[in-house]
Amino acid sequence: MLVKLARCVIQSADLIAYEDLQVRNMVKNHKLAKSISDAAWHQFRCWLEYFGNIYGKVTVAVAPQYTSIDCSSCGRQVKKTLSTRTHKCVCGSELCMDENTALNILAKSLRTVGHTGIYAWGQNDLCLDLETS
Ligand SMILES: [Zn+2]
Repeated sequence: MLVKLARCVIQSADLIAYEDLQVRNMVKNHKLAKSISDAAWHQFRCWLEYFGNIYGKVTVAVAPQYTSIDCSSCGRQVKKTLSTRTHKCVCGSELCMDENTALNILAKSLRTVGHTGIYAWGQNDLCLDLETS
């Protein structure tokens, strides 16, 4: 199931960005503990990177700090709790929290790719994992 999902994700975009989540910390949180398995997330990431290589797509792991707090439109920090599902900012931006987070992750990843050089595609390991750099 994870394999299928990973391949589907890779085939759907040219650049795949995801949060470099510290699953161990999340599992400590009782509300999330049931839905997140350390092993499953790690495995999914491995498959993402594997298919990224095969299909010539770039996978980027970005630091998870502020991705859910920052406003994707103006950059202001909007505090949220785990139960907050809507991102609402004074600049007028109002959208689903996950969507706001995704936009922030994408923006972060584009900055990362810009720094490391987009021309490295196909020559080196396609996985630009911040964890190892
Ligand atoms: Zn805003």
